[in-house]
Amino acid sequence: MNRGVTADIDLDALSHNFRKIKGLTSGSPVFAVVKADAYGHGAVEISKRLVAEGAERLAVAFTSEARLLRNAGITAPVIVLFDPDPADAVSLDIIPVVHNLKSGRLVSAEAARRGVQLNVHLKIDTGMGRLGIYPEDMDTITEIASLPNIRVEGFMSHFSEADLSDLSFAREQISRFRMLKQRLSESRLKPKYFHLANSAAVINLPEAHMDAVRPGIMLYGYSPFESNGTGLIPVMKASVKVHSVRRVKSGTPISYGRTFIAKRDSVIAVVGIGYADGYRRSFSNNADVLINGRRAPVAGRICMDLCMADVTDIVRDSDVAEGDEVVIIGRQGEEFISADELAAKAGTISYEVLTSIGSRAARNHISS
Ligand SMILES: *Cc1c(COP(=O)(O)O)cnc(C)c1O
Repeated sequence: MNRGVTADIDLDALSHNFRKIKGLTSGSPVFAVVKADAYGHGAVEISKRLVAEGAERLAVAFTSEARLLRNAGITAPVIVLFDPDPADAVSLDIIPVVHNLKSGRLVSAEAARRGVQLNVHLKIDTGMGRLGIYPEDMDTITEIASLPNIRVEGFMSHFSEADLSDLSFAREQISRFRMLKQRLSESRLKPKYFHLANSAAVINLPEAHMDAVRPGIMLYGYSPFESNGTGLIPVMKASVKVHSVRRVKSGTPISYGRTFIAKRDSVIAVVGIGYADGYRRSFSNNADVLINGRRAPVAGRICMDLCMADVTDIVRDSDVAEGDEVVIIGRQGEEFISADELAAKAGTISYEVLTSIGSRAARNHISS
């Protein structure tokens, strides 16, 4: 249920970011990652635009997400990264990622039952330590590849730390993956795609681009690195309304725990967003919002449904009234709050900020 937060999703910014990725990878095929409802941006609309831009495949985490895309009429190939439900894989015509022999057998058996051949990608664990077959384990790889009703269209791996300044472990992962590719080139297996480049590797590791790249966060306008010097444009603007405004005397405590006490006669805007909307409690006394194109600091603890902002300095120049727009993420006038800024304040990453706030908001997809 939306509780009053609006997320404007700029599809033209998405297109811009997609083209940036194309530019950085000399036109490499893009497997666009639209898991978690496109990082909180709305998977259906995002996917439609990305397919129109030429994304070669879409990638989601679970079959339920693939079903959503299919039900919306999206026919582009969809890779399901983590949940190769065999029955769904066949009926939804998706590309499951097989991460061990058991999942390979299940997919092949189901495909055989339905009399089809299914393309799959094999997940290789080059160092992420999460899912996949070790690159040395050629027995398992060849056994899966020889299952009767699956065709191994691709091999994929995933970086654990391509976003660090020290890229030595990322390079080690690339070299393990390349060694496997080399070994396979001597076998009968001729997969079309070797792919492992997430956004960090798209930006920083050209040697990882290989046959296709698999960016997520970049599409939405954020870099996995601290400095966002990549010319990406943030796609989401999250905003809400001023619920009410109150004038308080110096010494007045604000919100739970009295962690904010007005040091002067103050004007406090009550804002209709709280931690139930993904506006984290760690933003208490710690983040800014934008009102009338100016920054207003959060005053006191974030509540479940509401928070308060100190607009004393703003009302000196302009009125703040019930119903005014409050920007949580994005631009208002000359000011801008990025998901990175909020993430830094909460000790997390832009990914978590975007998915937490975006997935709960009422989204407007905008295109000029
Ligand atoms: C989420 C994910 C990506 C995209 O990562 P970004 O850092 O957002 O670019 C790529 N591959 C896999 C397997 C993922 O789970």
